[in-house]
Amino acid sequence: MSITGSAGGTDKRGVRELGAEEKVGWDAVPQGVVLTSFEGTTDNTAFIKPEDRIYSDFNSYTATVASWRVAKPVYNRDICIDCQNCWVWCPDTSIISRDKQMLGIDYDHCKGCGVCVEVCPTNPKSLLMFGENMDNDEALATWPEKKKKAK
Ligand code: SF4
Ligand code: SF4
Repeated sequence: MSITGSAGGTDKRGVRELGAEEKVGWDAVPQGVVLTSFEGTTDNTAFIKPEDRIYSDFNSYTATVASWRVAKPVYNRDICIDCQNCWVWCPDTSIISRDKQMLGIDYDHCKGCGVCVEVCPTNPKSLLMFGENMDNDEALATWPEKKKKAK
């Protein structure tokens, strides 16, 4: 199996199911080999949007782990205050945010850990966990009301 490839672009996001194909174990990778995350030059990569970068086959951006999840976060735009807490704390960089505005969840890479829900400060929360198979619109229809402060 080749350790480099030519995956890249928005249409490549989450195209591979991680674990579904034959892989090279770390014990089979030659010592000293360099597993590059990107194809070609990496100049200014930090200034290129993730969906516009040219990824190598070893970049996790091109692999989806969605099937690992049993529960998923659902996002409620109507309540969100764009504080970016969820973006900062997500351990899998699976919160999609642009220009400090929360856009949604990257369900190709979210593992369903629930950290984003824990750190969301709104009342009610703007992110809640639901069963993986629940339809997002149905989840939004069951959103809780604002909790009143105890006197
Ligand atoms: S559930 Fe976990 S992995 Fe998924 S978006 Fe929230 S913090 Fe990130
Ligand atoms: S933590 Fe909650 S309120 Fe803050 S950006 Fe994320 S979803 Fe919105």
